[in-house]
Amino acid sequence: MKAENQQAGQELARIENSLTQNHNALTAQTRDWAHWDDTYQFIQDANSDYATSNFSREMFEDLHDQAMIFISEGQQPMWIAGIDPGTNTYGTCTSATGDCSWAAPLIAEVQPFLGEVEASGLPLNLASPWPALVAIAPILQTDRTGPSRGWLIKLRLIDERLTDLLEDQTGLSVQISTRPAAPADTERKMALQRGPDLLHAGKPLLTHSRGPELVLSTEIPRDRGKRASRIFRYSLAWTAVLLAVVIGVVLALLYGLVLKPLGLFTRFVTGKQGENSLGQRENLADVPDSLLQRRDEFGTLARHAQRLISQQREQSKMLLDLSHHDPLTGLANRRLFDASLQQSLSDEPEKPTSVLMLDIDHFKLYNDRYGHPEGDRCLASVAECMEQTVKPHGFLVARTGGEEFSVLMPETGLEQARTCAEELRKAIAGLKLPHADSPVSDVVTVSVGVASSVNVDNVSGSTLMRSADLALYEAKDQGRNRVACFGEDAANMFG
Ligand code: GH3
Ligand code: MG
Ligand code: MG
Repeated sequence: MKAENQQAGQELARIENSLTQNHNALTAQTRDWAHWDDTYQFIQDANSDYATSNFSREMFEDLHDQAMIFISEGQQPMWIAGIDPGTNTYGTCTSATGDCSWAAPLIAEVQPFLGEVEASGLPLNLASPWPALVAIAPILQTDRTGPSRGWLIKLRLIDERLTDLLEDQTGLSVQISTRPAAPADTERKMALQRGPDLLHAGKPLLTHSRGPELVLSTEIPRDRGKRASRIFRYSLAWTAVLLAVVIGVVLALLYGLVLKPLGLFTRFVTGKQGENSLGQRENLADVPDSLLQRRDEFGTLARHAQRLISQQREQSKMLLDLSHHDPLTGLANRRLFDASLQQSLSDEPEKPTSVLMLDIDHFKLYNDRYGHPEGDRCLASVAECMEQTVKPHGFLVARTGGEEFSVLMPETGLEQARTCAEELRKAIAGLKLPHADSPVSDVVTVSVGVASSVNVDNVSGSTLMRSADLALYEAKDQGRNRVACFGEDAANMFG
């Protein structure tokens, strides 16, 4: 309701504004006529040429004006030209009598305002003798100098033509009517009348004539405001829905195209898979298939990362091999041997684990006699022989020193270890690698120390190896080219 009232007020103000503009245009025209040397001359000499050349019925009709009245300095009409609003007949007179007597009541209404007219002109709203717009301007020379020789009055009726024009200009229905004037001190405020379909809004206009006053009114379709606000609410809701959909689509695209693959990548890169007990990455996991199969930049990145991972794995394997093996003989090295021994002891502590320690007898003399390169070849042959010999048992052979080798025998007791040691000693001697300077034989021989977890106290990798080392010393002491077992006396040694 409040919105409807507000809308009615705004619509009436728009019509009134349009009417004022029309009135201002009339005042400007009146001023143009009144500030003209020819008019200035005419008001003084009543030259009939001015009258005949300037006024005609067509001129009034073209301008949509009703009349022009020239008032002398003595405030008497001296020339009237116009169309009688009552009879619609055109005439010109020198006084408001006879054919022009219709002008007398108009002049009577306007006369009190003549004294107030300034050079810019004065617009008046009349409700009587007819609803009309009137403009008065003082008659001056073209250069606006005076003294003023009288006044020019222009009359434009407020008729259907004018209200049609206002309707065209505002797009609203327009009625201007007259009604008995309210007391002078009454507030000129808007009156509203609500019909089922139409809202009638009316407002009195400032009226300068005596008697009745002018009232401007319009009719506004009642659902117009409601429809406007309904349309506004609908468009707002649709805009919100559309916005939500657009945001949803953008977020979904963002998620599918960027956030999801990025999340997968992040989880893949920061994942804990493949870490060893020290938290170091041992083996990188494969990039997830969902990333590898993507056709965008993430896919390219994922495939590239996968290639790098494969290369890294190969290199890691190579490095691991290098770090676990002896380059001369290809056997496991000390590091791999110690780790395997540790594992064997801790994996199945209840089962016996045995180790052998082999040392080539008088190898220094071998080098001295045959040269270091030949010494290398000898080491490789001994290594090859050892590997072949223990292969059926699945034991691990390692080069644990310069001309020293070790054998790890998981789940093997002392007797079986001793037998295998003897087998190895014989096999190496059986190679018949000449060792002319050896005090113990004319071929390359080895001494072997045997130790088994079953007869070592506080067994660990190092105690077991120390025991095997002691047994090896024992074998050396006993004359070399023999096997000695830790914890057994010399009588038990093979010789
Ligand atoms: P023993 O019977 O007491 O073991 O006497 P040995 O001469 O074998 O022992 P020693 O410890 O006195 O000398 C070991 C020799 O092994 C000395 C060293 O030159 C040789 N040697 C160690 N590593 C290599 C190697 O990689 N290649 C060659 N050709 N010789 C090596
Ligand atoms: Mg040695
Ligand atoms: Mg030696």
